[in-house]
Amino acid sequence: MTVQAQNIDAITAGAMPHEEAELTDGFHLVIDALKLNGIETIYNVPGIPITDLGRLAQAEGLRVISFRHEQNAGNAAAIAGFLTKKPGVCLTVSAPGFLNGLTALANATTNCFPMILISGSSEREIVDLQQGDYEEMDQLAIAKPLCKAAFRVLHAEDIGIGVARAIRAAVSGRPGGVYLDLPAKLFSQVIDGALGARSLVKVIDPAPAQLPAPSAVARALDLLKTAERPLIVLGKGAAYAQADDAVRALVEESGIPYVPMSMAKGLLPDTHPLSAGAARSTALKDSDVVLLVGARLNWLLSHGKGKTWGEPGSKRFIQIDIEPREMDSNVEIAAPLVGDIGSCVEALLAGIRKDWKGAPQAWLETIRSKREANIAKMAPKLMKNSSPMCFHSALGALRTVIKERPDAILVNEGANTLDLARGIIDMYQPRKRLDVGTWGVMGIGMGFAVAAAVETGKPVLAVEGDSAFGFSGMEVETICRYDLPVCIVIFNNNGIYRGTDTDPTGRDPGTTVFVKDSRYDKMMEAFGGVGVNVTTPDELKRAVDAAMDSGKPTLINAVIDPQAGSESGNIGSLNPQSTLKKKSA
Ligand code: ADP
Ligand code: MG
Repeated sequence: MTVQAQNIDAITAGAMPHEEAELTDGFHLVIDALKLNGIETIYNVPGIPITDLGRLAQAEGLRVISFRHEQNAGNAAAIAGFLTKKPGVCLTVSAPGFLNGLTALANATTNCFPMILISGSSEREIVDLQQGDYEEMDQLAIAKPLCKAAFRVLHAEDIGIGVARAIRAAVSGRPGGVYLDLPAKLFSQVIDGALGARSLVKVIDPAPAQLPAPSAVARALDLLKTAERPLIVLGKGAAYAQADDAVRALVEESGIPYVPMSMAKGLLPDTHPLSAGAARSTALKDSDVVLLVGARLNWLLSHGKGKTWGEPGSKRFIQIDIEPREMDSNVEIAAPLVGDIGSCVEALLAGIRKDWKGAPQAWLETIRSKREANIAKMAPKLMKNSSPMCFHSALGALRTVIKERPDAILVNEGANTLDLARGIIDMYQPRKRLDVGTWGVMGIGMGFAVAAAVETGKPVLAVEGDSAFGFSGMEVETICRYDLPVCIVIFNNNGIYRGTDTDPTGRDPGTTVFVKDSRYDKMMEAFGGVGVNVTTPDELKRAVDAAMDSGKPTLINAVIDPQAGSESGNIGSLNPQSTLKKKSA
């Protein structure tokens, strides 16, 4: 036995604790590297081979939040990244745990959220020869096409550089998901403590400012000045950038109306006089110059063409984005402005302050009257105190909650529950609305809710379709265990879209329905939280207020008319229907 090996045995037996100052191992180096770089929280699911990593991280002062399923831990890490501009870290076991976390990693990448998925893995020698190790899988190869970057560390002295590369890859340029593969053997590798300390890397300026070229700024300003019907579209990139004051100044000083994408709501309050949110269709269709700020012309903006955007050729786009290849991805971008949003918006603002005649009054008047007409049309629907509730009346109550508590964070997923809440619930502050994002994915609910509470300390209101909730529902135990100020409202209409489908053969329940009249509130009670069943908007409002005042984990089962929903909410057109349906026998 070598001297070093004797020391290892002594340390693992706990006999010579002071020796830890002179030696270190993979476990401690991972923790030290994360701490050195300002990582404060790990979203974790314990198991082989990373159980002790989570345990030691907690002992070393990191906050370690353990979940019941890796996808939820991964979603928590992803949204932590969005909220803080630091990579959210998710820690999982090998193969199956890694795969469960991978969905969240891919979703984070798609949404441009910085995240690092750290997974333990099995022995390289056995995996590479495919000899059938415990949870054998070539995780690095599988992760690569699904994230922004993927790295593996084989030697303890490379942990520092591995973590540094992961952090820089996650947050620089267009943010995204990074996979870091740490084989089991790495954790117990022991090296000299001083060597270990020297091997750590503090990432300096992880997301450097990227200034737009002056000529590109001038081109954008020239185009903007020709506009008769200018429009600003704020996307979640603008929310992520935390350039809130600059974005607000750009809108207010230019006087250009703006449409916020879903997660950009609240960058300026939805009640702002320049908000065209409630006149979205008109604003998109009739505008002539559109300034995109951290918003992609993907399916959520009808790819920048078609009926949504009016006559072909009627539109010219200015696009601010940190990713050069985003330009012309769907249509021609007349004035690309590549750089970080803070720098680009400041540059435009400087130009506007020098020379700007204001936005044309006729256009502002068109937007204003359309907005007011739409708001007036919606108002009575939101005020009904019916039982069972419809989506509108229930959301009317929640709209008042957020108006009265603008610093609460709203998490939102579902079909109708999502589409209608997005339009009905006004947001007043930046980064307070977290939802299904670019993929429109279900299952983000509880992961997002946990991380929102942990990262911000603010009350969280999670408005969930009954189906959407099911993907992450077991995390109500996590919410109770960490005693988080999360209030979940389940819009229970007995099923997906509606609760009324049947099996034409009469054998089974319809494919889109759940157990009728379920009591999701009882799930919360099972773990010591508060469960409430409500059937009217007034009861709903009272129950949410009580939850928010107490800060206790609460689940409110909101009984919604099973007839109320529509197929796929607002995006029924994406859900093909057979025209050749056979009549059942
Ligand atoms: P939304 O769905 O709200 O329209 P998207 O996710 O489609 O938003 O677009 C966000 C865009 O913001 C992405 O193209 C991304 O590259 C960009 N982005 C993210 N962070 C920054 C930043 N700091 N500066 C500039 N662009 C950014
Ligand atoms: Mg439902």
